[in-house]
Amino acid sequence: MTNDIGVNERVSLVMALRKKGISNIDVLRAMELVPREEFVHPAFREQAYYDIALPLECGQTISQPFIVACMTEMLAVNKNDKVLEVGTGSGYQAAVLSHLGRRIFTIERFRDLYLSARDKFDRLGLDNIVTRPGDGSEGWPEQAPFDRIIVTAAAAEVPGALLDQLVVGGRLVMPVGEHRDHQKITIIDRTDKGYEQEQTLPVRFVPLITGNEDE
Ligand code: SAH
Repeated sequence: MTNDIGVNERVSLVMALRKKGISNIDVLRAMELVPREEFVHPAFREQAYYDIALPLECGQTISQPFIVACMTEMLAVNKNDKVLEVGTGSGYQAAVLSHLGRRIFTIERFRDLYLSARDKFDRLGLDNIVTRPGDGSEGWPEQAPFDRIIVTAAAAEVPGALLDQLVVGGRLVMPVGEHRDHQKITIIDRTDKGYEQEQTLPVRFVPLITGNEDE
């Protein structure tokens, strides 16, 4: 199916993101390149370009475009970076990252979501994304280390395996909080002296669930 909704809506979305404070040109361009209507549940296609989170299969959500743009901007991806995403979901965030980094590795614990995201990456020709099903809180040891790691599900703490799989000079961005109502996007920089942490925006993400798919 071709995009009857799409290009104009994407331009308006990018203008709205600029107004809300997203200023990085590369991030805005990446957001403009990704057809969000391909990533939302078909029942919500008409709302694909509203700046809101939408429901996905398996009780999960595709994040609000503003939050995707913020987290992407905070991640500060360079074009040669190897990036790990935990929580593929719809694949939208990975698609945005594919226009910024060299290779994107993304892990999803629900097999159905993994399969459907993989199909979308194939269909859209996003061939620098590698994906697999599994528990992303263990990271992807065979591909480590990563220049950038983004986690799109929340936990009380950043999983140790992910901190270990970050290069020195690398950065991790993740919603962290004990409570669903008290999560903050957290930026962690690995330096030669250790890890430095900064808390930013309050957010609400679905939980990071460790272990195998429980269906
Ligand atoms: N980045 C996604 C947003 C996904 S919502 C997008 O752009 O659409 C968070 C996703 O994290 C859900 O799909 C959920 O199933 C997944 N998830 C939760 N715990 C996980 C884990 N331990 N490993 C991998 N994926 C996980």
